[in-house]
Amino acid sequence: MKVSKIYGTLTFNDRIMKDKLSYEVYKRFKKTIEEGEPISKEIAECIAHALKEWAIENNCTHYTHWFHPLTGLTAEKHDAFLTFDGDLTPIERFLADELIQGEPDASSFPSGGTRSTFEARGYTAWDPQSPCFIMEGKKSNTLCIPSVFLSYNGDSLDKKSVLLKSIKVLEEATKKVLEISEFPVPEKVFVTTGPEQEYYLLDREVFEKREDLVITGRTLLGANSVKGQKLEDHYFGSIPDRVKYFMEDVEYALYKLGVPAKTRHNEVAPCQFELAPVFEELNIAADHNHLVMVMLEKKAREHGFALLLHEKPFKGLNGSGKHNNWSIADNRGINYLSPGKNREEFLRFLLFFVGVINGVYKHEKFIRASVASAANDHRLGGNEAPPSIISVFVGTALGNVLENLMEGNFVEPEHSKTLEIGLSYLPQIERHNTDRNRTSPVAFTGNKFEFRAVGSSQPLGLPNTVLNASVADSFNEISNLIKSEKDSGKNREEAILSALSKVLKNCRKVIFNGNGYSKEWLYEAEKRGLSNLKNTPEALKNSFGNEKERDFLIKLGILSERELNARLNIKYDHYSKVVDIEAKMFVKMIKKYVRNAAFKQAKRFAEVDFFDSSAYMKSIKSMEEKVKVLIGEIEHFESVEGEKKAFFAANTVIPLMEKLREVVDFIETETDKSLWPIPDYDSMLIL
Ligand code: ADP
Ligand code: MG
Repeated sequence: MKVSKIYGTLTFNDRIMKDKLSYEVYKRFKKTIEEGEPISKEIAECIAHALKEWAIENNCTHYTHWFHPLTGLTAEKHDAFLTFDGDLTPIERFLADELIQGEPDASSFPSGGTRSTFEARGYTAWDPQSPCFIMEGKKSNTLCIPSVFLSYNGDSLDKKSVLLKSIKVLEEATKKVLEISEFPVPEKVFVTTGPEQEYYLLDREVFEKREDLVITGRTLLGANSVKGQKLEDHYFGSIPDRVKYFMEDVEYALYKLGVPAKTRHNEVAPCQFELAPVFEELNIAADHNHLVMVMLEKKAREHGFALLLHEKPFKGLNGSGKHNNWSIADNRGINYLSPGKNREEFLRFLLFFVGVINGVYKHEKFIRASVASAANDHRLGGNEAPPSIISVFVGTALGNVLENLMEGNFVEPEHSKTLEIGLSYLPQIERHNTDRNRTSPVAFTGNKFEFRAVGSSQPLGLPNTVLNASVADSFNEISNLIKSEKDSGKNREEAILSALSKVLKNCRKVIFNGNGYSKEWLYEAEKRGLSNLKNTPEALKNSFGNEKERDFLIKLGILSERELNARLNIKYDHYSKVVDIEAKMFVKMIKKYVRNAAFKQAKRFAEVDFFDSSAYMKSIKSMEEKVKVLIGEIEHFESVEGEKKAFFAANTVIPLMEKLREVVDFIETETDKSLWPIPDYDSMLIL
């Protein structure tokens, strides 16, 4: 198979556009895609017609505006191309209006209060910068139109619209800081992103026997696997044939959709895998990551697997993340986070490098909140993923450069000489250094930052919106500093260095190259004044729910107060719902499976008169008591709402479930396998 032959054949790509559009329309459309020029109605009409022709040639009967509502899933409402002429002749038609705007019945998507039911209408609007694509079905296919989702009064109801705003804001801030620092200003600035997608695969039959996995996405009970990941023999080991066929199928489907899947390998835990694409412009990368998740799910089913995207499906085994590789580049192909080849390029690198670190420092709370979810809480701080304290890893080589810079040493010729020697080996050294340090939520890896706290099931939208905004805010601060340094008479280089050294004096607090799991770091971080927002409600309250912390998003024009409140409400609500479902499911599992097995086992123990089963009996009693308390808490849960409910879930329900789990897992370990009615960890984690 030649991948290049099929690559992108299901997308309205450049070759097809050239083929289907007149040269004039093609040129105008390209200007829209590349420069964001608005599209006139006439041009849209031509594009709609061409799209329809192309879609029908490819067996499409329907089209849909494809968007990402605030629940984190993708949404679509399919409409047929089929209409009827005046004399009732059936005909396929697709008008510009239908391309540009859709009106799904929006009342059941969460709006967090931005939309009252009497104006329940929401609108989807075409995003011309992300290519339309075709989703294959069994009998016929569907044309998908990447879209944003807005309320009647223009409030953003989705992830994409805000992401697009943040990209624009960062582009402007980047150009401004380049201009003030007297570096060439490019026509276009991009954010580049490559998300490494981790996931678990289980045999579908086994999976379906675990109601907790089916309903909540994670095992609510289950004693550790005997082997666990102690041997680490799975990591980079050979991929089982069955899984390899699955991966080939996923990749084939993704290639046709123009998604550049690049690497596949086993992860550390048994049954855990990773798929990484080649990085792309952020808006496209975010859409493509959705397609990756959709396709993994679809193909897993077809191959008799169940896909787990949950951040922590198994206690005691690695959780799944989505390392979000992130950089800033321009239309000339320059990567602003590449250390460069000479002094001038290195100076520019430092400007951006310090700019990002300062952005993370300024908005660490919001950055933490951008990856907060009930599921990801189990992963962050779980001694295998980054902790919930946000810090930045820079490695020792660049750490030294920053130490020098803080002293204002860059300008001295002898130091610049050592820097130049440093330059030739920097990228390599940093790359190798960082692989050993998985504990850092944000790490510099040679020519990009890697935001590792992002969870495996989380769309790229929010974490990158917040990252972009934080960095833009920092760039603006640095621009102002450089300007005032220049105004006070410093030359250009002195002004840049002096501004960076000033900024560093504060933001160095967020730099940490050590072990993020250690107790010392907890104390040290607290001493430095960094926050440690351990769970989702805490993270939300201190970001979306905090006027001071969220102000920068309003000032930058990325989210309005109303949109922020909406997100806060939706997130509290979603968190509480997840915990509520888990707690109820847990009680059900105990009543349906655990209790019976335990009673049977207790009876057997009783038959052996010399056997001391007191520990076992005590556990059963303790389980029964705790279940009773949990049931009571679930009832109380119904009577609280919003923030209160979320905090109650985090501080009361979850700790109770954890304690209950300890007891249940002990019972499981002591119970005859033939009496245990559901698959245990050892029988689940083999393929
Ligand atoms: P590693 O596995 O050591 O983290 P890789 O080179 O395999 O590094 O890259 C991991 C991911 O980072 C890939 O998806 C890759 O495309 C992406 N990436 C590489 N360079 C950039 C960049 N400049 N901007 C954004 N993502 C990048
Ligand atoms: Mg990586």
